[in-house]
Amino acid sequence: MRTADIIAEENQYIVQTYGRPEFVLERGNGVYLFDTDGNRYLDFVSGLAVNAFGYGDYDILKAIEQQAAQLMHCSNLYHTIPSTKLAVQLVENSFADRAFFCNSGTEAWEATLKFCRKWGNTTFDKPKNGLIAMNNSFHGRTYGSISTTGQPKYHQGFEPMLPGVDFAEFNNLASVEALVTDQTCAILLEPLQAEGGIHVAEQGFLEGLRALCDEREILLVFDEIQTGMGRTGSLWAYEQYGVEPDIMTLAKALGGGLPIGVTLVRQKVADAIAAGDHAATFGANPVVCAAALTVFAKLNEAGFVDGIREKGEYLHARLAKLQERWPDHISQIRGRGLIAGAVTSRPAADYLVPFRQRDILVVTAGADVLRFLPPLIVGKEHLDEAIDVFDEILRQGLD
Ligand SMILES: *Cc1c(COP(=O)(O)O)cnc(C)c1O
Repeated sequence: MRTADIIAEENQYIVQTYGRPEFVLERGNGVYLFDTDGNRYLDFVSGLAVNAFGYGDYDILKAIEQQAAQLMHCSNLYHTIPSTKLAVQLVENSFADRAFFCNSGTEAWEATLKFCRKWGNTTFDKPKNGLIAMNNSFHGRTYGSISTTGQPKYHQGFEPMLPGVDFAEFNNLASVEALVTDQTCAILLEPLQAEGGIHVAEQGFLEGLRALCDEREILLVFDEIQTGMGRTGSLWAYEQYGVEPDIMTLAKALGGGLPIGVTLVRQKVADAIAAGDHAATFGANPVVCAAALTVFAKLNEAGFVDGIREKGEYLHARLAKLQERWPDHISQIRGRGLIAGAVTSRPAADYLVPFRQRDILVVTAGADVLRFLPPLIVGKEHLDEAIDVFDEILRQGLD
């Protein structure tokens, strides 16, 4: 089929929940994607922070192939090996005591909300089930997730939202304290708000939240679906703060391109959950967990995460230089490690086509932030190429 035919059929047969650009991606290799017209793109989107090891990684492919041949699915009615091994790895390399497996970020978040309320409703003399989430957050697209996402654009037309959710200001401890009551069971946030525009949590904010949660017997929940798995230059973003949550959600990069969601919890949360409280047919799928085991082993290879931090510092230093050169076009550079946002004076979406015309894919994060999310295996030469192209676009000007 020709490119135009595929796009025409897509437009006719698929619910139009996405506005897609006019090209069709067909295959990938390393840090590159190829479209049906033979164009090659340097990928600074990584399937939205999923393809940490780029495309066609041999180790991940081999793990998928072997496990698919051995056992593809048998349901959570039975014990299986890959999910158990993965749980051991995730627990032994984090704050957590136990893992729950599902299939996506939003599902991991839904499990979190249920676990928080079950804990709050059953642990104390009087039930408590109030949730405090952050303005500008993003936690996925199912009802619990949008109800705790502090961006009205995700609610509009889908009301009513889940009750019992209040919103505080990110990086404003007093605004959280003002909302805490004896009914509050959990405080929910991303240590780095990604979809909301690349906002990094301040040290004092996370420390203050941890102290507040300890004092008032509230669960502290970190959504590391986008920031986990090395993206910010440490395995988990929270490590750079020395502040541990009670629950953490993972998804995106962990599955190596296959769908996975994980809710990691402390024992006290697990103690509130009984058999039958929650489930997912495909959760803990052996093939997905085998891929994730390989991804996790590769992330933990000596020096890999240090390399992300170094490359991240290089990317941020070069972006900072670009901002100095073009202060009228770029007002701020935000982020950490290999997630970076340039705050643009023009709508960020205006830059997508100019980048694509120069064979690079980038993505926005909100209306005025251009987001750089290269695969974690990216080389410095690729970082240079993307920044040089950004420089050229700014020099030549948008139409
Ligand atoms: C992507 C994302 C989600 C939702 O994940 P899905 O797999 O799309 O459901 C939730 N939280 C954060 C922080 C995300 O970046």
